[in-house]
Amino acid sequence: MDIQLFDTTLRDGTQSEGLSLSVEDKIKIARMLDGFGIHFIEGGYPGSNPKDVEFFRKARQLGLKHAKLTAFGSTRKAGSRADQDPNLRALVEADTPAVCIFGKSWTLHVTKVLGTTLEENLAMIADSVSFLKKNGREVVYDAEHFFDGFRADPAYALAAVSAAAKAGADWITMCDTNGGSLPSFVTHAVKAVRAAVPTRLGIHSHNDSDLAVANALAAVEAGCTQVQGTINGWGERCGNANLISIIPALQLKMEKRCVSDENLERLTELSRAVSEIANVRPRAHAPYVGVSAFAHKGGAHVSAVEKITASYEHIAPERVGNRRHIVVSELSGRGNVRLRASELGIEAQGNEAALLGRIKEMESRGYQFEAAEGSFELLVRRSQPGYVLPFEVLDVVLISERRRGSEMFAEATVKLKVGDQVVHTVAEGTGPVHALDSAFHKALNPFYPLLTEVRLSDYKVRILDPEMATEAKVRVLLETASGENRWSTIGVSQNIIEASSEALADALELPLVRASKTGDVVINAPKAVGA
Ligand SMILES: [Zn+2]
Repeated sequence: MDIQLFDTTLRDGTQSEGLSLSVEDKIKIARMLDGFGIHFIEGGYPGSNPKDVEFFRKARQLGLKHAKLTAFGSTRKAGSRADQDPNLRALVEADTPAVCIFGKSWTLHVTKVLGTTLEENLAMIADSVSFLKKNGREVVYDAEHFFDGFRADPAYALAAVSAAAKAGADWITMCDTNGGSLPSFVTHAVKAVRAAVPTRLGIHSHNDSDLAVANALAAVEAGCTQVQGTINGWGERCGNANLISIIPALQLKMEKRCVSDENLERLTELSRAVSEIANVRPRAHAPYVGVSAFAHKGGAHVSAVEKITASYEHIAPERVGNRRHIVVSELSGRGNVRLRASELGIEAQGNEAALLGRIKEMESRGYQFEAAEGSFELLVRRSQPGYVLPFEVLDVVLISERRRGSEMFAEATVKLKVGDQVVHTVAEGTGPVHALDSAFHKALNPFYPLLTEVRLSDYKVRILDPEMATEAKVRVLLETASGENRWSTIGVSQNIIEASSEALADALELPLVRASKTGDVVINAPKAVGA
């Protein structure tokens, strides 16, 4: 492979605000990264964090097939010996094939932050690298603040990386720790290092100027063969370089190999699966892997894409495992509806005009299908001959009350028809939507067990005509998830409960209809319950 990928999601990525990974989460992610073909997996900082020590202990049993597990730490302390430095010893005890240590390259940091001399800093770098090499580790030396250091005092920054190179470091990685560098400067600095040391070079960029990916690619063009970054660009402040964007750029645009083509086709899956584990909502507009990355909305774009896909797409979405996505909206022509239907694997049966008429009529009443793909899919499926409803909603009753001295309380009663049975259930909830959701599940789960995995993940309400005050219509958008699948549905009404229950019924009908197409669920031959 031309470029080695160094993932630091489990170390630098976890510095991201609001992101917290358990040891089990980290193990799962490490396994995925290994399967994807990442070369180095930086697991954590064993010298500073007991949770990371536990991770490395468990990770030994992982049996990674491809990736080298890497422990992270710093050079020895000033005025001490490397073999007695607790941090370096913890790195060796982590028992990983590779170790990454960072050291200072910026005079300001050496004298003002560390409070030591420039000579002692060079000795700290050299001693620490030699100690780890003596212990048989592959050593990645991270030159922290390299670009700022090089800007302030190029000779000293080069002396610092040369100290690591002479001590036997296998890699020298230049870090744009503060994320403030521009690509042209990165190119200039990497070339200077390339001329000064024979060691293989890497880049570790941060995104504070929204340039982390650009800086990583510039560094590769200037001679780096290792790229450090995180999945989805997670990291402290504005994040780290996003490997999910770097990998396809290297492979599809720069002809640098880093993973197999088959694995590249799993890029979207990797990005979303890691988000799922970290419980972070995937970004719709994420380049390459977002659901909107290959979305086409305007009628003219859609008909052009239908003729020549490259006309409005920078790469073929399948190369990264994403898919083209035709947005249905008031801009739709018949072509959009036909394309969208065929995307869903449904051949429009000459009824596009009727379907389009229905969509336009619903849009005029406040429905908006571009944000509710699930409801759109149902609309198309219901227009097919022989469609069987998995259930029908007969009645919905909701009671919400607050009594002195107690919390607000909601109770929903739903009456549904499943096959030829009528089910009547009551459920309580912390609020009306929660109560409704619970009542639907209580009624349907016994008939369709796959619904037990289905849960509401987001609920949004928008007032459509605020000038109507309390008589205004509301639009409810629900996002529902089951494992890694997500779908969104919509309901519109003057009554928020009615809009919510409409969106909720769609949210539960869709997975059943999809499963019935693959034969996983039999609709309308439900097993009798409670009989
Ligand atoms: Zn960093």
